[in-house]
Amino acid sequence: MDIKKVGVVGCGLMGSGITQVCAQAGYEVIVSEINNELLNKGLASIDSRLNRDVEKGRLSPPDKDSIFNRIKGTTDTKDFNDRDLVVEAAIENMELKKKILAELDKICPKHAILATNTSCLSIIDMAMVTGRPDKVLGLHFFNPVPVMKLLEIVKTIATSDETLETGQNFGKSLGKTIVIAKDTPGFIVNRLLIPYLLNAIRMLDIGIATKEDIDTGITLGLNHPMGPLTLSDLVGNDVVLFIADGLYEEFKEPQYAPPSLLRKMVTAGRLGRKTGKGFYDYNK
Ligand code: NAD
Repeated sequence: MDIKKVGVVGCGLMGSGITQVCAQAGYEVIVSEINNELLNKGLASIDSRLNRDVEKGRLSPPDKDSIFNRIKGTTDTKDFNDRDLVVEAAIENMELKKKILAELDKICPKHAILATNTSCLSIIDMAMVTGRPDKVLGLHFFNPVPVMKLLEIVKTIATSDETLETGQNFGKSLGKTIVIAKDTPGFIVNRLLIPYLLNAIRMLDIGIATKEDIDTGITLGLNHPMGPLTLSDLVGNDVVLFIADGLYEEFKEPQYAPPSLLRKMVTAGRLGRKTGKGFYDYNK
């Protein structure tokens, strides 16, 4: 199937990035939010990222204008009634995602593919609230979406080969490199990343090394761009805890059990960069 018109639900961190890369690839995009204030905030974040590209000479002013003109914001999901593909990028909550998918199923054309950007929730659970589980799949983008090359495509036991192929072609048209994973918590990247982050936090908790030495060990010893504690602060310690809880709930394996230090950090509001303090202090 040929995708021409794209919808994105949610214009937060991920939704605004997904909207941007779709418009940059030439798609006409409608993005929805729950109110005008959040919609304008999301659209302004796209505008400022594109302006930065113009300032840096990566984009010409006319190209910037045509990209931005391909994006329309809405607070009415009914505007998705002519979309070929809609990506749900609302907050990570199963009940909300099921509600959104069921609504999209009623509104979108019969041929439309419904995708979710969920990080760790079961996609078949969302697919089964629709009358088209064969046309539901995961399109898991990475933050920041315009920069990160990877797209994990998640195939449920009900996703048809045709839907998967359309999803792959769509992802490639956005300039992404695609990996395909089964519908299982954490898919590929988070399933490997989360135990690694949890191990680093456990190591700090039991006093094996300082946070600086753990991070330096990984940056210089493995040539990673940042160490695990810096990375956890960047992802958000609350997000790491949420995904770890989801993985542990599913697999009941100790490697996924969140260490108590992580839970305490989240309780204390030390969520990382977004709150100014996590394992490191960003207010200094
Ligand atoms: P966010 O909170 O920045 O954005 C979510 C947005 O969705 C909010 O602005 C919210 O107002 C909006 N929203 C909620 N209900 C809505 C509805 N019914 N209709 C329209 N908009 C609605 O969250 P985010 O970080 O962008 O995460 C979005 C999704 O992407 C989550 O499922 C998350 O797990 C996943 N994800 C996040 C990351 C990341 O690094 N942040 C990476 C990959 C995937």
